[in-house]
Order: sequence, then C-alpha cells, then structure tokens
Amino acid sequence: MGKSGGEHGGQHGDGGGGEGAGPGVTRRRALWIGGGSVVAAGAAAFAARDELAHWWWRLPGNDKPRTAGAVDFRGAQWVAASPENYRRADRPADYGIDRVVIHVVQGSYATALEVFQDPDHEAGAHYVVRKDGHIAQMIRELDVAFHSGNRGYNERSVGIEHEGFVDRPESFTAAMYASSARLTAGICRRYGFPADREHIVGHVEVPGTDHTDPGRHWDWDRYLRLVRAELHRAARGTERAPVRKA
Ligand SMILES: [Zn+2]
Repeated sequence: MGKSGGEHGGQHGDGGGGEGAGPGVTRRRALWIGGGSVVAAGAAAFAARDELAHWWWRLPGNDKPRTAGAVDFRGAQWVAASPENYRRADRPADYGIDRVVIHVVQGSYATALEVFQDPDHEAGAHYVVRKDGHIAQMIRELDVAFHSGNRGYNERSVGIEHEGFVDRPESFTAAMYASSARLTAGICRRYGFPADREHIVGHVEVPGTDHTDPGRHWDWDRYLRLVRAELHRAARGTERAPVRKA
C-alpha cells in the first residue's frame, strides 16, 4: 500500500515391432526398439500435456487443484484474501516471476488483513509481515495479487506488505527485516532470480505508481544483506525445505 486508503491498490503406438523378427537376438532387438519409441511418444505426450496445463485451468470449472490452507512459505499463517483482490493464475507456468515488491501498510498488520479480506478494497498482497516477524500469507504465489497498481508488475511479482508507516523508522524492526528477508530469499530461490535491487524493488519504483512506500527509512542495504545471507545459508544446505505447492 503506502497511501492511506490506497487502491492496491498419451496415447502412443503399441511399438510392437515384431514383424519378421525371429526368436533370439533379433526379436529382443525389435522389442528394444519398440520400447524406445514408446519412451519418445511418452515424452511428446508429456510436452503436450505440459502445454495444455498452461491453459486448462482457464476453462470454466477447471480450477487448478489446491490444498486448502496451503502456504508457499513454511511458517506463514494462511489468512485468505477476498478473491476480488487477486486473479487466479498458474504462475510461473503462465507468467514468469522475477520481482519482489516491498510495501509498507501505512497501518497495522490487523488493518492489512482486514482490508485484504474486504471484497471492495480492490487490492491485496501475497504476504503481510508483522512487527514481530510473524507472516501471514493471503494469496498464493501462483495467483496474481493486485498490489502494485501495474498489471505487468502484478503478473511478474510477489508482493510483501510490512506493518507500519513510511515516516516512522521504528516501524521497521530487526525481527521484521529478518523474517521478511527469509521470505524474499525463498522467493528468489523458488523462481531463480537474483537478490539485487533490480529484482527486489519498492512499490515506489513500480512504473506509473503514485505510492511512496517503503519510504526513506526502509534500509535497503541491510535488507539485501540479510536476503543474500539467507541464500548463502540455503546454498550450504542448512535451510529448512520450502513447502511444496499444492
Ligand atoms: Zn504499496
């Protein structure tokens, strides 16, 4: 947010291959070739199914199966946003994800949860981070949240709200930075993009926005240092495994 009242706003051939094949080596070879063609047909079918998977959920009545209450970040508490505040999608299959957008609520954690559950708010973010580091996930990462005011950015990003106010430096606690950095590091790792200021941006940097969050008190150097430390920790294999998507 960042503005009060913000408008966050197979089939395959049978591969028989037995024609004229006598007993012994010749026949075994024919079967082996048959088996190879089965594998190839299977791969083609898989590719076709993969292609289809990008689109089938758009058809009426074909919502992608999801596990109720599942989260993308271990430890996050699921609090469902109103479906009016996001668009169901199948990221990263339909839209690649290569941005994290950092927001400040301009209010409390409770306020953010309340407004994102309000169908008339017309905005919502994937996550809300509380002052003590607790994280609520309100929208699945596979869905497009209406958080940046820019359709293209919404489609390519995960939005993270932080409790507090842009003009109150005390809003941004050590616990909040640490927890949010773990969350962002997981997103960078899941979708394979670098932890830098090109890919981790403030709402203020989203093209066309009139929002100012996270504001001048948000410590970018500190935040990126923490995100990279998390990534290094993960690379050393000591991180907790990410929760699999439904
Ligand atoms: Zn914002």
